[in-house]
Amino acid sequence: MISAPSGAGKTSLVNHVLHRVNNVCASVSHTTRSPRPGEIDGVNYYFVGLTEFERMDQENAFLESAKVHGNLYGTSRLWVENALKTGRNVILEIDWQGAQQIRDIFTDSCSIFILPPSKETLRQRLLGRGQDAPEVIEQRLAAAQEEMSHWREADFVLINDDFDITCQKLTNLLDKRSGQAFDDTTNPKLQSLITTLLP
Ligand code: 5GP
Repeated sequence: MISAPSGAGKTSLVNHVLHRVNNVCASVSHTTRSPRPGEIDGVNYYFVGLTEFERMDQENAFLESAKVHGNLYGTSRLWVENALKTGRNVILEIDWQGAQQIRDIFTDSCSIFILPPSKETLRQRLLGRGQDAPEVIEQRLAAAQEEMSHWREADFVLINDDFDITCQKLTNLLDKRSGQAFDDTTNPKLQSLITTLLP
């Protein structure tokens, strides 16, 4: 599992490492959120209506599901089981609620938390194109802090201060799972970073 607040660079990192690591694929989640410009159904997400999502949920079609920022997200049980049957490892890009559910099911799962290098970088990334009102940015920052408050639950934490280096660390983690993996919990910067990122 890979979790991160929005603005930490998780999706770009995952897309990058997928091309570098053998035998790994990324699960495509179902969501009730509307597609953003450029997003493709079946590639970024399976975009479904609330009724369809609830029907699937009742039929036990999700390995895990959660409400995130007001929308529902779920990981398809069938999709993941089929991928695992072919011998591949599966990356789930999910929030802390989903990660908790997956830990209960797969005791051999591994979770990685990605943190931004500073509060200012996070704010700048959340500002995006600068089209959002300040209160919207503050809401996103608060949501990011809520997500980040769960960083300790992960097996590994990576601080994404340099994209290429973080990519390499993530690649090593996925390649070796733990053996020669880097783990930023030994990074002396981590404790002071956490005190600035979280209230
Ligand atoms: P976004 O809508 O910006 O793509 O994702 C919003 C949040 O939902 C992110 O934190 C992402 O990790 C989380 N998310 C995406 N897919 C799933 C899923 O299938 N399950 C859970 N629990 N969270 C998900």
